[in-house]
Amino acid sequence: MSERRTPDDLELLRNLLGPEGPELSCEQCFAELDRYVELELSEADPDLAVPGMRAHLEGCGACAEDHRSLRALVEAETAPE
Ligand SMILES: [Zn+2]
Repeated sequence: MSERRTPDDLELLRNLLGPEGPELSCEQCFAELDRYVELELSEADPDLAVPGMRAHLEGCGACAEDHRSLRALVEAETAPE
């Protein structure tokens, strides 16, 4: 008896693991926050790199606050003047 993964299984797995997972947890959000802010400020597309982050920030006040202060900090550090 051999077990083979069908494309459907892979699709299911991919849906479970992202990149289009519904939302990050606070822990995942915190872990990716640095990278996310850097990408935002480098005009890359952070939502492509960290899917689910924006949705989480919109739904989670604590992480949104973290995001705002980290972003302000990084902006101040990288300001041209
Ligand atoms: Zn959160």
